[in-house]
Amino acid sequence: MTVYDNTVPAIDCVDFVRLVDDLVDSDPQQWGAIVAKHLDECPPCLVYLQQMLDLKVLLNHVFDGDKLSEDDIAGVVNAITTLRNGHES
Ligand SMILES: [Zn+2]
Repeated sequence: MTVYDNTVPAIDCVDFVRLVDDLVDSDPQQWGAIVAKHLDECPPCLVYLQQMLDLKVLLNHVFDGDKLSEDDIAGVVNAITTLRNGHES
């Protein structure tokens, strides 16, 4: 389990869900400790975020097929895998 600094504020699920729209449009590397902390502590929100990311990838494929490279997809998958693995240790 990841140990977070005590200065990282906890947010509740309502706040998290409000953030998800922004998260799916930004680089997972820049989500920040607040988001990572909530995902680590709240599996339902992690699942929700994964579903939104999956949906975004699918929509990009449908409307913007040429823009999304294999590397883009791999990056999203890697980010999710990293978050998942963070849960287990
Ligand atoms: Zn939550």
